[in-house]
Amino acid sequence: MNILLINSNLHHKHGLIDQLLYKLNSNPILVLQQIAAATPKNHSLKLIDDKYDSPFYDGKIDLVGISAVTPSAPRAYKIADYYRRKGAPVVLGGMHASALPEEAKQHADSVVIGEAEMLWPQLIKDFELGKIKPFYRCDKPVDPKSIKCPRHDLLRIPPLFTAVAPSRGCPYNCSFCTLTHLHGQNYRQRPVEKVIQEIKNTSRKILVFLHDSALTIDKNYAKSLFKAMIPLRKKFIAYGTLPSLLDDELLKLSNKAGCVVWCLGFETICNDSLKKDANKAYSIEKYESVCRRIHKFDMNIFGSFAFGFDNDEPNIFEDTLQAAYDFGLDAAEFNILTPFPITRLFHKFNNEGRILTKDWEKYDLRHVVFQPKKMTIKELYDGITNVSLKFYSPLKTIQRITNVAFKTRKFSNILIMGAMNTVMLRFHREFSPN
Ligand code: SF4
Repeated sequence: MNILLINSNLHHKHGLIDQLLYKLNSNPILVLQQIAAATPKNHSLKLIDDKYDSPFYDGKIDLVGISAVTPSAPRAYKIADYYRRKGAPVVLGGMHASALPEEAKQHADSVVIGEAEMLWPQLIKDFELGKIKPFYRCDKPVDPKSIKCPRHDLLRIPPLFTAVAPSRGCPYNCSFCTLTHLHGQNYRQRPVEKVIQEIKNTSRKILVFLHDSALTIDKNYAKSLFKAMIPLRKKFIAYGTLPSLLDDELLKLSNKAGCVVWCLGFETICNDSLKKDANKAYSIEKYESVCRRIHKFDMNIFGSFAFGFDNDEPNIFEDTLQAAYDFGLDAAEFNILTPFPITRLFHKFNNEGRILTKDWEKYDLRHVVFQPKKMTIKELYDGITNVSLKFYSPLKTIQRITNVAFKTRKFSNILIMGAMNTVMLRFHREFSPN
């Protein structure tokens, strides 16, 4: 059977220059490669990342699988309708289809809800027997030991970077997070030796993203992984949670293992919002200490913030900007709080009549899709635009990269932080009014 797997993307550009940029500088995806790895070997597979490769394929296809997050769902439906018109059955999965399976079903023959690896082989078997079901629901978390090495080799335009996910699940259950709904709150680690083998398989990639929001929750696991990574001499970027990063031994090991950048989800500098919406027991006073420690070990920090929490008043923007400078962040992203369907935040706003639109394309972290509590929509939009423009002013950007050069004196750090600042500068310049 010929199976086509597509990752739909809101921002799709398929020109040659775009494909080159994608190869050089793109946050790698994992979803298609993971599903490909779970596909029985007797089938022929084609993978398309819609971001830079056209998803409208003319060849003979027996079954199409499409994955989408909320802002790319309308695009996924358009692609699904195209294949169904051609007579090819379509399966929809991913974050949005898992959140709103009935909506997705209107454009698909079958919908996969939750983690797909365990369900996919059975779905294919049912399809071959002509007994495909309308819905497949993952009722228990995937056993991390059973996760196979993703098939990166099947991507038509493989980027220079690659992604590896050592664990799944996150216990925090932040009110705005979609990940915990797909992967669950049960934090599960893959065996270190399997992760190491997967990283070894990426020997031709110059940089690895450890795609794992909760990697440092279990400090012992993170330390074992970093120890095992030291001989691989890879450069990598990792996501970290704050309390664990106060551990100097963990930071030292991560540095030895090749960590260049820690991505930290600060979310907000308001302690009340941190407790209520991000479910965190620590306070913002810890941030500065964590940042100092990371810099002490010659690594850099990419921080992310969201604006629009119910406690946020118009002064939050300047206060956050000042905090980003005080923490010495080497790059940052400033997002509009977005209540994705399925999250606690969406249900709260929906119950309060504060959801302004269900045009999913606007759920892209750049549009205000709900009524903020302590500021107007314009104040929220203008505030985040100003913060972004100030943080990414040419002078501040050059200062940050120069700082990285003087402090780390490492080519890898300068290159990666230079690229991150350039990408984020472009991202924030593209902010568009509602
Ligand atoms: S800490 Fe990150 S991954 Fe975990 S629930 Fe919060 S936003 Fe999601």
